Amino acid sequence: MSDLSEFSLIQHYFEQLTAKRDDVLLGIGDDCALLQCPEDEVLAVSIDTLVENVHFFSDVDPESLGHKSLAVGLSDLAAMGAKPKWFTLALTLPEVHEVWLKKFSQGLAKLANEFKVQLVGGDTTKGPLSISIQVHGFVDPEKALRRDGAQVGDLIYVTNTLGDAGAALKLAQSELVNESFDNEDKRYLTRRLECPTPRLNLGQKLIGIASAAIDISDGLVADLGHILEKSSVGSRIDLARLPLSASLLKLERAEAEHLALYSGDDYELCFTAPANHYTEIEDMFQGQCTRIGVITNDDGIVVIENDKLKSLKNKGYDHFSNS
Ligand code: ADP
Ligand code: MG
Repeated sequence: MSDLSEFSLIQHYFEQLTAKRDDVLLGIGDDCALLQCPEDEVLAVSIDTLVENVHFFSDVDPESLGHKSLAVGLSDLAAMGAKPKWFTLALTLPEVHEVWLKKFSQGLAKLANEFKVQLVGGDTTKGPLSISIQVHGFVDPEKALRRDGAQVGDLIYVTNTLGDAGAALKLAQSELVNESFDNEDKRYLTRRLECPTPRLNLGQKLIGIASAAIDISDGLVADLGHILEKSSVGSRIDLARLPLSASLLKLERAEAEHLALYSGDDYELCFTAPANHYTEIEDMFQGQCTRIGVITNDDGIVVIENDKLKSLKNKGYDHFSNS
C-alpha cells in the first residue's frame, strides 16, 4: 500500500507517460482533453475493458498487462484500417501498488510510443482491478474496413498464425499436455497470449484492397461469422491452409486446427478481398497473411477437410453463453 494521492498518482505515472503529439491542444490535467481533428477523415472510436480473473490472471506480468490493455483497442482500429492517435484510460485499482503501477505504465507506454498514440486523459478509482481503454483513430469514411462489404467470390485471408493464444490459455489452465511443448514453445505461446501485436500497418495497407475486415478476438469461426452475417454471405475454409505456428503444430493437427478455429485472443486480422487483388496481396504482404478460403453462398462456414465438405457451428467465445 502507498499513501500516494489520486492526484499525485496521475501526475507521477500518467501525465508524462506517452510522447506528445501536435494535435493534442490540451492533454491530461483539465476537465477534458482538447484534440485537433483532421478535416477530411472521421473519428474511429472503440473501448475495451480487462477485468482481473475474467480477462487476465492475477499473477500476470503487469508490463504485459499494460501492453495488452492498449493492444486490444489498437487491434480494433487496425481492423477498420484507421490511423491511431489518442487513448484514454479508466483504471480501477484495489490499492496503490507502486511496483505494479510502474511496470503496468511502462508496458502501456512502450506500445503507445511505438505507434505514436498519446494518453490524453482518464479516470482513476478504487475497486476491484479493472482497466478500460478507449482508443481514437481516423479513417476515410468511404474506405473504412467494415464488416459488411464481403461479396461472393472474394478471397478470405488471415494474418500471421492462429490458435497460439488459445493454446497458451489452455496450458495455463492445465488443459493441454505440458509435455507437448519445450520451454521455448511455452514462452512463444505465452507471449502470443499476453502481448498481442495490433496489426495497424497491415490494416492501413488494406484500405482500397480489402472488402471487409475484423480482428480475431473471439476465434476465427465466431469473428469470420460476424463478417458473413453482416455481409449476408457464406464461406468455405480450407482447413489444410490454416496458418499454424511451429509451436502449435507440436499438438496433434486436429487439436491445433480446433484451437485455430475456435480459440480467441489472437488479435490477428481476418479480411476478404476481391480475387483480382490476389497478386497485389501476395506481393505486398509476403508471408504476413494466408489465403484460407473464399466467400460463397453457403449457409455460414463450410470447411473443406480431405476433399469433403463439413458445416461448422458458430461457437467462439461468448461471455454470456453457458455452453
Ligand atoms: P475530473 O474529476 O474533472 O473528472 P480527475 O480528477 O478524474 O478529473 O482527473 C484529473 C485529470 O487527470 C483529468 O485530465 C483526467 O483526464 C486525468 N486522469 C485521471 N486518471 C487518469 C488516468 N488513469 N490516466 C490518464 N489520465 C487520467
Ligand atoms: Mg474523475
